[in-house]
Amino acid sequence: MKRKVLVLTSGGLDSILALKIMEHEGLEPVGVHFCTWFNLPKYVLQKDLKKEDEFFGFPLFNIDLSDEFTPLLLKPTYGFGSGANPCIDCKILFFKKAKELLEIYGADFVASGEVVGQRPMSQMKKTLRLIEKASGLEGYLLRPLSARLLDPTIPEKRGWVDTKHLYAISGRGRREQMALAAQFGIGEYPLPAGGCVLTEKVFRLRMNDLLAHDPAPAVCDFFILRYGRHFRLSGGCKLVVGRNEVENEFLRRTGWGNTVLDGTDVPGPYCLMQWDGRFGSFREALGIAYRYSDLGRFDPARQAGMPARFIIESADRKTTILTRRPVPARLIDEAIIR
Ligand code: SF4
Repeated sequence: MKRKVLVLTSGGLDSILALKIMEHEGLEPVGVHFCTWFNLPKYVLQKDLKKEDEFFGFPLFNIDLSDEFTPLLLKPTYGFGSGANPCIDCKILFFKKAKELLEIYGADFVASGEVVGQRPMSQMKKTLRLIEKASGLEGYLLRPLSARLLDPTIPEKRGWVDTKHLYAISGRGRREQMALAAQFGIGEYPLPAGGCVLTEKVFRLRMNDLLAHDPAPAVCDFFILRYGRHFRLSGGCKLVVGRNEVENEFLRRTGWGNTVLDGTDVPGPYCLMQWDGRFGSFREALGIAYRYSDLGRFDPARQAGMPARFIIESADRKTTILTRRPVPARLIDEAIIR
């Protein structure tokens, strides 16, 4: 019977190669994707993902670690990278979870597509060792793309894989991985995406604002930081304004907030709000929504202050129609969280 190996996959070429290399060594690779609110593909909700899926011909299990991840953002043991990315804590969490899954999936060890020196915070040699140790996987975590640059693992020592068949890739370049993809006959593969959303400056600003107003935010409060334009109104409540049709549609599906604002005769953004019970907050929020509507942006008469109607829908689905004028542009600058 073939030995099983759990391969942590992020969906990129390095993960595909790790799966292929393990298969080539005569093992049975099983892909595991830890999908948290911050690494779900754009405009995808956790509920959209199949628990059991398939990835380049390999079985793939999607496992939600959102709840476990969120406390790391509040107090990461190893600190943040350039943004709100607690990379070392994040990797330790993923590998700790993978260790727990070994028994459940009947696997002997864990592999990943990590490459030495590819990322400054979590993929330097010293950090790779630290993560391996802290996750409790010492000796049982194989990084096949860089294995020949690292200490031999148990799978190598016991002959489950042959070190000579593994690689010594390092650094941020993609050339060697692309050559390897061609060697394995992988024709099409996902191009490197924009990177982790937690490293983005705007995400850090939004997260700081969230924590300044709510010391114990829920997973959905973090998730919504990825979408729309964000405003902190003068009374302290939060408004999220869709930026385009796709985002408007997606915001509808997130279910975040306790109030929805939508134009009736004004085509424009769909807005979500965590209403604080103050009527003034509606006035402010609708004035902002108006500014971002088609009329607010393109019609000089409307910009000058012609009123328009909006529907307000509360969490219990009661609706109210309010008429509002656009707020002055200066108020947008004061409220927006960039
Ligand atoms: S870049 Fe993002 S996903 Fe990758 S380790 Fe850091 S926090 Fe985790």
